[in-house]
Amino acid sequence: MTPDLEKVLIPSEDIQLKVRELGAEVTRDYAGERPLLVCILRGGVVFLGDLMRAVDLPCEIDFMDISSYGAGTSSSGVVRILKDLEEDITGRHVLIVEDIVDTGLTLSYLTRALLARKPASLEVCSLLTKPSRRKVEINVKYLGFEVPDEFVVGYGLDYAGAYRNLPDIGVLKPEVIGGGAQA
Ligand code: 5GP
Repeated sequence: MTPDLEKVLIPSEDIQLKVRELGAEVTRDYAGERPLLVCILRGGVVFLGDLMRAVDLPCEIDFMDISSYGAGTSSSGVVRILKDLEEDITGRHVLIVEDIVDTGLTLSYLTRALLARKPASLEVCSLLTKPSRRKVEINVKYLGFEVPDEFVVGYGLDYAGAYRNLPDIGVLKPEVIGGGAQA
């Protein structure tokens, strides 16, 4: 465990078990289809990599990059598409793969934008949720874990660009966030 973590909230073993469960649910629900897994960069990358290998179906992947927090830890409320999908999703079964739903503002914007492209279906798979922070209701069909209202890092989630490669999900020591130290 990196010395910068104050505590581990979700150890790697628990994440791996949960991702396999989610993959099995997706496999069952999309049987006979060829879903398009849409990963939200960059936090969703690690989750997508594990999830797609737990899905026992032909599936495709695509990526979107959306502005969110910048280098800080609080939402700007500004949502902007920095990189759009390569695929035309009209008539496709689309599953958004996200790291964490916090206020819900990002996904609320994103689902509206993608629904306008007329996919056959659109669902959300998020590894984490912070329900106490929600500002808009979001229907997350596939959900990993609830986390408390704390800023978490690891398994794709960063602080100022670092800590994405931690296998566990945890909370940083206050002095790290104050001092801007890196992993
Ligand atoms: P929302 O629009 O739901 O408030 O924010 C969603 C995005 O904010 C997530 O995809 C993630 O990039 C970022 N975010 C929200 N909470 C956390 C957190 O605790 N840790 C990190 N690293 N990012 C977070």
